[in-house]
Amino acid sequence: MKHVIALDVGGTGMKAALVGADGALLYEARRATGRERGPDAVVESILAFAADLRAHGEKHFGESALAAGVAVPGIVDAEHGIAVYASNLGWRDVPMRRLLGERLGGVPVALGHDVRTGGLAEGRIGAGKGADRFLFIPLGTGIAGAIGIAGAIEEGAHGYAGEIGHIVIRPDGPDCGCGQRGCLETLASASAVSRAWAAASGDPKADAADCAKAVESGDPKAVAVWRDAVDALAAGLVTALTLLDPRTLIIGGGLAEAGETLFTPLRAAVEERVTFQKLPHIVPAALGDTAGCLGAGLLAWDLLSTEVSA
Ligand SMILES: [Zn+2]
Repeated sequence: MKHVIALDVGGTGMKAALVGADGALLYEARRATGRERGPDAVVESILAFAADLRAHGEKHFGESALAAGVAVPGIVDAEHGIAVYASNLGWRDVPMRRLLGERLGGVPVALGHDVRTGGLAEGRIGAGKGADRFLFIPLGTGIAGAIGIAGAIEEGAHGYAGEIGHIVIRPDGPDCGCGQRGCLETLASASAVSRAWAAASGDPKADAADCAKAVESGDPKAVAVWRDAVDALAAGLVTALTLLDPRTLIIGGGLAEAGETLFTPLRAAVEERVTFQKLPHIVPAALGDTAGCLGAGLLAWDLLSTEVSA
């Protein structure tokens, strides 16, 4: 059966799949990156995992994978197939496409940025299915974004497009890892809400999910923390939709798991701020943590279809 290899590399774990032509997941596996052993060990873990997936396909589906797609964190030069930088994995300028191609017997390899790759899947087969223009924003440890235009994701001239988490919302706000202050991700990521709620509740272990529960039970301190995050998020989203005019805004990541506790006030706060802009549909992500892997499979299949048509 014809299939491709899909790999989603995270900070600590890797998700992988063999994906059929119709997008079906034929086989799924997970493995640790081994990042405690250093950046070279992570690269070797990825290559070995891919080789094992190829062997699995040969054994169980009668042929080896036609192509591979890989999503990696950090900064990615997709055009040249280079994983430029990832702070959580410690690597710099890894020629991932070439290394994987060599390990996989010369099959074509597509390399993508993790959030943009997840966005591709959400836009095409997930929450944004059918939307010609969408924005995918996962609210996790940080906040990133993927700009979907006509079935593809905009990467920008240097691979930085969509970094909505570093829009400055409050110039006098908390320090951000990027060097600025008051970036959206310091105010409205799941980590930011966890920090704010741990401080406000006096429980250092309390996190964003606990805050959402406290909001639902009407705790006024939690309501204040939540409102602060929702206000910051709405300000960031209005900046994004003023620039991009998306039809659908897909919100994912840990914070979106709060469901309507997040979405109801968020839709209201965005609506309050827009003047001439058209309101997009604001919807929760549908694919959860498989988005990156499914997107990597789509990248691999896209590569094959462009090769055939070229
Ligand atoms: Zn920042």
